[in-house]
Amino acid sequence: MDERVKNASVVSIGNEVLSGRTVDTNAAYIGQQLRLIGVPVVSVHTVGDRQETIVRTLALAASEADIVIVTGGLGPTDDDLTRHAFAEYLGVELELRDELLAAIEALFQGRGWPMAQKNRIQACMPQGAAVVPNDWGTAPGIIAEKDGAVLFALPGVPREMKEMLAASVLPRLRDLAQGQAVAVRRLGCYGAGESTIAEMLGDAMDRDRNPLVNCTAHAGVITLEIVALAATEAEAQAMVDAEEAALRDLLGNLVFGVDEQTLAEVVGLELARSGRTLALAESCTGGLVAKFITDVPGATRYFTRGWVTYSNQAKIEELGVPAELIEAHGAVSPEVAAAMAQGARRRAGTDYAIGITGIAGPGGGSEQKPAGLVYICVDQADGTNTSKHIFSRDRRSVRLRAAQTALNTLRLGIGG
Ligand code: ATP
Ligand code: MG
Repeated sequence: MDERVKNASVVSIGNEVLSGRTVDTNAAYIGQQLRLIGVPVVSVHTVGDRQETIVRTLALAASEADIVIVTGGLGPTDDDLTRHAFAEYLGVELELRDELLAAIEALFQGRGWPMAQKNRIQACMPQGAAVVPNDWGTAPGIIAEKDGAVLFALPGVPREMKEMLAASVLPRLRDLAQGQAVAVRRLGCYGAGESTIAEMLGDAMDRDRNPLVNCTAHAGVITLEIVALAATEAEAQAMVDAEEAALRDLLGNLVFGVDEQTLAEVVGLELARSGRTLALAESCTGGLVAKFITDVPGATRYFTRGWVTYSNQAKIEELGVPAELIEAHGAVSPEVAAAMAQGARRRAGTDYAIGITGIAGPGGGSEQKPAGLVYICVDQADGTNTSKHIFSRDRRSVRLRAAQTALNTLRLGIGG
């Protein structure tokens, strides 16, 4: 494999992107498509409709990457400055191309519209530049080379950009990036924070490694993304496999799944495999765990029923939680969480049951029992496992984290 992997920089042009009126989906899409052909995007620049800034940014992007893909600013109006900026950056003039003008005129004729003089600019190209045909709109794209970098300009309209990327740009990039392939795998982790996991990984997260490991956090799930670059698909896959094994060694049972797998899916797979069943008794999560469990197709194989017992009375009547227990310890207590789980398991006749009780907040807390305090109990034939958690932030995230943590506790209890 070539020592240096061919990489790319993306430049998004338009005041509407800067102001946030348009979300830059183009850069995201290009990043995804380039990754699929083994070309990593190393930077994304967003700039307004200002020629001087665009020229400077082209130079910067070309100094960072082998390939520069620009979107936006190819329209016919005075704020569309990409082709002027390309000409200035390349040190050439814009020239009118007769065949492009004919094509634009034909397009207008076909639609039965008169062509505005303004559209003539779209038939102009920097001298020496090649054309990216646009069969879906009026603005052809531009291909140019300077100082060893290849630069592409595509329209900002997402539909046109996508069609032209697929038809003209990606095939060229595949040639440029021959002998480089990429493989990606994600590992879902639960049970420790981002910084703890990063510490456990040691130098596995070094930025100049191949495979590279990226870390993101969402709703308590830490996702480690392994990206391997190699000369062939098979080599890249083998590198990802080896890296996954190494990370699993470091993290043990913090790792719950791969790629898009959720905690509920992993738990479901294990329950289905072992032929075990589950019931739920939820208070502060209001059925969220049941929702996650039943998000998974085929949950009927292992999930029989759930209770949302929000009031004390419901806990007593529906689950047989002794009134004295609530009296003595309060509804948010390890004793009540355990009694809820035991009651649910007994009444449903399942192998496992989860009981959850807590204070979702923002109000309702006290010094001893702050908002965010949640008790989770998993009950099974050989005993109960009750744990105490204090989740932070808003009501939504307290409930979400409580539900996810309940699923994770069950996962660890059933060896999933
Ligand atoms: P043309 O297709 O006429 O050449 P253009 O290249 O000048 O247009 P713009 O006028 O900048 O493109 O944008 C056209 C449309 O594309 C707008 O609706 C805009 O919101 C959308 N657009 C532009 N840039 C982006 C981007 N980075 N991500 C998503 N949408 C975009
Ligand atoms: Mg524009």
